[in-house]
Amino acid sequence: MNLREELCAYGRRAVELGLVIGTSGNLSVRDGDRVAVTPSGAALDRLTPDMCPVVDVEGFLLEGELQPSSETPMHLAIYETTDARAVVHTHSMFGTVVATTMTELPPVHYNALTLGGTVKVAPYATYGTPELAAGVRDALAGKRAALMANHGGVTIGATLEEAFEAARLLEWLCEVYVRGLGVGRPAVLTEDQLAAVVERALNPPRFPRR
Ligand code: 13P
Ligand code: ZN
Repeated sequence: MNLREELCAYGRRAVELGLVIGTSGNLSVRDGDRVAVTPSGAALDRLTPDMCPVVDVEGFLLEGELQPSSETPMHLAIYETTDARAVVHTHSMFGTVVATTMTELPPVHYNALTLGGTVKVAPYATYGTPELAAGVRDALAGKRAALMANHGGVTIGATLEEAFEAARLLEWLCEVYVRGLGVGRPAVLTEDQLAAVVERALNPPRFPRR
């Protein structure tokens, strides 16, 4: 699959799974100095490869007739400051609830370590602005996910599949936390408990053979 075909496939999946509705959200994938991105204002489940623009890392349009996503400056700021090769931005329900009510998502499940532990909420700024891009870039430092106040979530990965799975995980973690708040007071994992998970993952026990 080439980069633009990947955008179409994951755009469809994002809509199918309810991570975005209508024309909200956007995806990009980088290959060297070229970044394929979803077009602005298009339903992500109706994309065709030729609809997806390609820009360079400075934001100049290289290919495509349609305008790149309004969040392209945010995607490019992330590529500039991380090792990401793909970025997924959604307006998923529970992610947006957390981003609208809290300043961070605490690690209440060890799977949060996949995203870098606590997920920070970047300050509110108008969509598509350099202020929003700068806030998200800062919130992502050392992590695979961030939330955007009163807006949605952003995840990154070495591939579009990885960034997309991170978006699904972010949504699941936000749902666990929000539903947990409705039932009681969710326990937050301590630094020691999280360190023990890392230790365990690095040294899995070997089952002896008979
Ligand atoms: P675009 O349609 O321009 O990608 O904008 C959608 C969005 O989610 C803005 O934050
Ligand atoms: Zn958005």
